[in-house]
Amino acid sequence: MDYIVFDLEWNQCPYGKEREVARLPFEIIEIGAVKLNSSLKQVSTYHTLINPKVYRTLHYRTREIVGLTTKDLKQGKPFETAVREFFSWAGPEAVFCTWGTTDLTELQRNLSFYGLLHLFRGPCQFLNVQKLFAIQYENTKSRRSLEYAVDFLKLEKDENFHRALADAEYTGRILSTIDPSVILSCDSIDTYQNPTSKENEIHAVYNGYSKYISRSFPTKEEAMADKEVRSTYCCVCGREAKKKLRWFSTGTRAYYCTAVCPVHGYIKGKIKTQHAMDGGIFVIKTIKVSYGEEAEAIQQKKEALRVKRRKARHKE
Ligand SMILES: [Zn+2]
Repeated sequence: MDYIVFDLEWNQCPYGKEREVARLPFEIIEIGAVKLNSSLKQVSTYHTLINPKVYRTLHYRTREIVGLTTKDLKQGKPFETAVREFFSWAGPEAVFCTWGTTDLTELQRNLSFYGLLHLFRGPCQFLNVQKLFAIQYENTKSRRSLEYAVDFLKLEKDENFHRALADAEYTGRILSTIDPSVILSCDSIDTYQNPTSKENEIHAVYNGYSKYISRSFPTKEEAMADKEVRSTYCCVCGREAKKKLRWFSTGTRAYYCTAVCPVHGYIKGKIKTQHAMDGGIFVIKTIKVSYGEEAEAIQQKKEALRVKRRKARHKE
């Protein structure tokens, strides 16, 4: 198994948002990647420039940050040639790793724009090295810049930041300092492509929480009426946990609930609804072990909401 740590650079419309192509706000112009073997040792590198087709002139910020010129990009390959070459270099067993989550989104958005999304199967399990860095060295919520992490670990800085290959190499070096136990237990799931059928739905169990990613439903109401979506299985033992507080919405795209496992006590659930590729709605449900006070806080949130709604009704 190989870890493919990659980084992309992209360009945007040089003439402002009004003239941008809505389906492709960011056009990939460079791919850089390193391959690490299962012992996290770098064994190979990949780099290519891409000749852009949509925004042929560089946005001044891209030119400033990445340090490439429009002339440089003319030497690049067409996007399709470049990604086919990249995937074939990566190999079929690749575990993709990136700093943050946006590179995977933009890669798939560019693939989709060119009708090539079939080259990359999703939903994709990957390693978010930015998150792993936080778990290993700081706290689970912090998200640092790549340069911060390089300075923090006192890694030698001999290359330019914001060039795809240099950033991929830095990310690879950071990944190689992370405990194998953290790497194994803290993978992420990219849902640019949501599951397309019930059989492909994702049920993942992590230390202290579980994640369910559904297929798409025509509407949010239909999604929230589904038995599997509404279910609350304990994230530790898998037993059905009895609801204390049924799913309720706070008016955004999130729903909450609490339940009690006969063995592990309180658990809390959160459902986020998202737009699916086919125009429908899919959900991401997280179930976490909870503490009495937390469940209490969720109960209070619901109470506060009820009071607010009652007041709003009185005003009408
Ligand atoms: Zn349990």
